[in-house]
Amino acid sequence: MAKQEDVFKKVISHAKEYGYVFQSSEIYDGLSAVYDYAQNGVELKKNIREYWWQAMVQLNDNIVGIDAAIFMHPTTWKASGHVDAFNDPLIDNKDSKKRYRADVLVEDHVAKIEAKIDKEVTKAAKRFGDAFDKDQFLATNQRVLDYQAKADGILKRLGKSLENEDLADVKALIEELEIACPLSGSKNWTDVKQFNLMFGTKLGASADSAMDLYLRPETAQGIFVNFLNVQKTGRMKIPFGIAQTGKAFRNEIVARQFIFRMREFEQMEMQYFIKPGTQQEWYEKWKEKRHKWHLSLGMGEENYRFHDHEKLAHYADAAADIEFKFPFGFKELEGIHSRTDFDLSQHEEYSGKKLQYFDPEENKSYVPYVLETSIGLDRMFLAVFSNSLQEEELENGTTRTVLKIPAVLAPTKAAILPLLKRDGLPEVAQKLIDELKWDFNVVYDEKDAVGRRYRRQDAAGTPFCITVDHQTLEDETVTIRHRDTMEQQRIKLSEVKDIISKEVDMRYWLQKI
Ligand code: ATP
Repeated sequence: MAKQEDVFKKVISHAKEYGYVFQSSEIYDGLSAVYDYAQNGVELKKNIREYWWQAMVQLNDNIVGIDAAIFMHPTTWKASGHVDAFNDPLIDNKDSKKRYRADVLVEDHVAKIEAKIDKEVTKAAKRFGDAFDKDQFLATNQRVLDYQAKADGILKRLGKSLENEDLADVKALIEELEIACPLSGSKNWTDVKQFNLMFGTKLGASADSAMDLYLRPETAQGIFVNFLNVQKTGRMKIPFGIAQTGKAFRNEIVARQFIFRMREFEQMEMQYFIKPGTQQEWYEKWKEKRHKWHLSLGMGEENYRFHDHEKLAHYADAAADIEFKFPFGFKELEGIHSRTDFDLSQHEEYSGKKLQYFDPEENKSYVPYVLETSIGLDRMFLAVFSNSLQEEELENGTTRTVLKIPAVLAPTKAAILPLLKRDGLPEVAQKLIDELKWDFNVVYDEKDAVGRRYRRQDAAGTPFCITVDHQTLEDETVTIRHRDTMEQQRIKLSEVKDIISKEVDMRYWLQKI
């Protein structure tokens, strides 16, 4: 089995074992591509959401939040283009009877070519040592240039065919590239067909009067239809943004990557309303701002990259993904889209209501353009979780499993451990918990030797352990142990709260943006 697959399996089993993510309805053998967040997962998810919300809403005085309903008037989805164009191109393998997204098959093929480039780079870096100049190598090495040209050519053709709805050419491309079904190894493919991803449901009791509804496939439309209400009641001046987090639903066909692609998931979206003509400038600015947000969490600059879209969605005039290095390779984590005035104009047309902004500087009304940032909360969760899970070789030859979740996002900030279950130590520990619990999540653990408790907390992702021992009774000091370095220090009981606060307070992390 490939190493990547092993790592990913470990991520999934660790997420279950340590109370982060469970399969939905597991006692009934689960529901495909639907997951539940467990006692630790719900805290991590909440912290990621809060980290995003503070960066967007609290720290920008021209961005406000809303929480729109999941159900929306069905015409919304006609206007947005989702009824007609929210499709995935699907292809079936006739031998394995497995269904795939045709574009994903091609993209995975391209990823293999890109992996070859990475291999060349690693080899050359070894060969040249300190003198190695990666940029120069990428720009001049003939083998790399050939691979790159091949990858670019394939993506370009895929983009064009999808844009022109030329599904026959997508199939031709799959055949020319000799892409085989990963399951059966066969190249016996059906034609490519379009499949709408929205879930339908009904509003109302009686069969004849019930209204057909959709579960929203994105949160963005709840923002567009409220644009004027927010602008007027909030007296917002362009440029301004509306942010929202909430559930979205897509009947994903290829849903095999744990919480990376789910049928019910959560998005964190922000629509920034701008003057027409300024979209390029704002596109660049938001790409940079969002990149910085990611980097502020310290998960390694090398794990992020931008991918500019060849194929633009029907509403966009520019689009890029921020990709993250998941255990199965670089994949989309967040999208930055320049959506023009498409959505507001469409809603104007379908609703018959004016959705315009009067610009006092220009002394005229116009339909604003929109710059969107859209990130999947669950994908961010997977990025944080998979990046944090590490096996470390220790000096004494043993290994430890540690979940190095950025302290600001960790579900539990500290574990309070009495060295022994007697001599009044549990009481002191409990008193400390009663003091800390007003500020952070803390846990109490008295079972097993302290070394084993440390390991348990390492694996659960708790950044600090505080040990209360006999010396505490004498001089009111405790041991603080840092998860990432395993360093231990003696500190005063009265300092515990401040020391932890400093490391976990969102403000210290957000200041890096
Ligand atoms: P993909 O190409 O991976 O299907 P997308 O381009 O359709 O994603 P968008 O419509 O741009 O995704 O949605 C914005 C964000 O929502 C994505 O960047 C991703 O983080 C998240 N997202 C989209 N679909 C899912 C899903 N099925 N499960 C979890 N997160 C999702």
